[in-house]
Amino acid sequence: MRICDKRLQQSMNEIKRIAGIIQSIGFECTRCGTCCSAVEPDSNLVMVTPAEIREIMEGSGFSWQEIAKPYPEKISHGADHTYTLGWCIHRIDGNCVFLENSGCRIYQNRPWICRTYPFVLDGDIVRTYPCPGLGREISHKDAMAIAKNLRDRKVAEETDEAKIRAVLQNEKIPPGIFVVIDGEGIHPVPR
Ligand code: SF4
Repeated sequence: MRICDKRLQQSMNEIKRIAGIIQSIGFECTRCGTCCSAVEPDSNLVMVTPAEIREIMEGSGFSWQEIAKPYPEKISHGADHTYTLGWCIHRIDGNCVFLENSGCRIYQNRPWICRTYPFVLDGDIVRTYPCPGLGREISHKDAMAIAKNLRDRKVAEETDEAKIRAVLQNEKIPPGIFVVIDGEGIHPVPR
């Protein structure tokens, strides 16, 4: 077996393993919208990478500022440097800016977190967030689709984290202003 065939086979086995766990847990979205809203301050925030923001921009026509705001956790470094790591989707009155009665306005371009909720990969372990849809029967096909998204999300997050580490290593944080550091660089706020 060639190396690329072997990798493909390993990847497929991993997706099947994750899908098996998802099927044993069970899940069906009840469209309650709870995961798209804050249940307490800053809960259920949807973090997004620059690549995800650009995909939403292309699919929706919204601007960067309309889609995302700096992640609210500010980090201070010394007396003069304040930054945050990354972006999250805007909210209005605690609801995601894209939530409407009929569902998600950007469903086709929704972020990884939304595609995979209520599941998350913690290393190799599949964990769940609270959700009324858990425990419901799920088809093998749907479980495989979530499993593939979970695997792809993990790769995307690892790629973004590596880019942020490179930015932190190679660029200087400017003093005296609040900045967002993401995989594309250091940005004064508002961007
Ligand atoms: S982007 Fe869509 S799925 Fe994600 S939190 Fe907002 S409304 Fe919900």
